[in-house]
Amino acid sequence: MTSLPRSTDLFVIGGGPAGLAAALAARRRGLDVTLADSSVPPIDKACGEGIMPDGLAAARSLGLDLDAAGGHAFRGISFRDGDSAVAAAFPNGHGLGLRRTALHQLMVNQAIDAGVHLAWGVRVSGITAEGVMADDRLVRARWIAGADGGNSPVRRWAGLDACHHESRRFGFRRHYAIAPWSEYMEIHWGEGCQLYITPVAAGEVCVVLISSDQRLRLDDVLPGFPEVERRLSAAGPTNLQRGGVTASRRLKAVYRGNVALVGDSSGSVDAITGDGLCLLFQQSVALAAALEAGDLSLYQAEHRRIGRRPEWMANLMLLLDQHGGLRSRAIRALAGRPNLFAGMLAMHVGQQSPTDFLRNGLALGWRMLTL
Ligand SMILES: Cc1cc2nc3c(=O)[nH]c(=O)nc-3n(C[C@H](O)[C@H](O)[C@H](O)COP(=O)(O)OP(=O)(O)OC[C@H]3O[C@@H](n4cnc5c(N)ncnc54)[C@H](O)[C@@H]3O)c2cc1C
Repeated sequence: MTSLPRSTDLFVIGGGPAGLAAALAARRRGLDVTLADSSVPPIDKACGEGIMPDGLAAARSLGLDLDAAGGHAFRGISFRDGDSAVAAAFPNGHGLGLRRTALHQLMVNQAIDAGVHLAWGVRVSGITAEGVMADDRLVRARWIAGADGGNSPVRRWAGLDACHHESRRFGFRRHYAIAPWSEYMEIHWGEGCQLYITPVAAGEVCVVLISSDQRLRLDDVLPGFPEVERRLSAAGPTNLQRGGVTASRRLKAVYRGNVALVGDSSGSVDAITGDGLCLLFQQSVALAAALEAGDLSLYQAEHRRIGRRPEWMANLMLLLDQHGGLRSRAIRALAGRPNLFAGMLAMHVGQQSPTDFLRNGLALGWRMLTL
């Protein structure tokens, strides 16, 4: 743990995955970087802990070999709705289920090796034209990155709270000591909620409940998913439920002056997409390039481009959440034509063009009408 320097090129506020990724990316471009977080590592968080293949690739471009951190590989995604089920493999490698604490520790170790000045247990109380107020003193900074999560104070301080749209759902996560029973990350659709299950170790799965009802807990909904309930009842939970808010939020701007936002502070897509970590790795690479060029408008343009596809997918998933009849028909149609589901998954991980996706969508619509 480092004491705070008097000045730095980039001050990163928040040391979750986004802050650490932004710090690593900036160090790779030769900037002097200081990072502060009010918590101490390894930091845990309610998360489905699934990282998509494009997220693993983006992490590799920051020097992070997440496969080496342990975890459990999965080969694709499966949708299950009542008696209907469909699965497809990723067209570009595998996904990885990795405990948040293992991810965080790996990133912290990498940041130490890269020479980032790390200040844990340090709350940032404000920003000024000169720099950052941390531990009641000013650290001068040329650039400031707000990586302080969905509730971001930095976003407020910088006047960046205005958004195009915003909605919220609630997620609860618990781990169970059971060998993964599937090679896929499973999404189980129910009335007004989803369960998703990620294999995270040879003997452990991560189960997340997501819904719009903040009072719902895993034990309330499990009877509605008898197959999952039967499997989990044979295993014990290994920890208590941890909850979090998952927001769909698109900001009007992600920078002002010398302050840029990254990760959940810069907007987010619903957790059901499993895209949060992938997005923040990609944003961090783009932010470092813009800092090197000295032009944060480049970051804003790239941030918008990176977020477009996940936003589409999130909207599609939320549509299925809100319209049970449509969802059942769609999943039954996909079960009869798994190549259409494989096409959707390819789009999700950036391996298919929007035109192909549209063609797939039309084929799916036709299939639904003729069921
Ligand atoms: C239920 C749920 C399931 C999810 N499932 C997945 C999934 O399967 N796959 C996936 O890729 N994504 C998933 N996500 C999304 C993913 O968890 C987030 O995108 C990711 O955690 C965002 O990281 P972050 O670093 O931006 O924010 P955070 O992880 O929230 O980190 C913010 C940090 O800032 C620090 N901080 C805040 N204020 C201050 C301050 N004033 N001073 C100092 N430090 C401060 C906090 O202590 C914290 O450590 C899920 C999210 C939820 C809620």
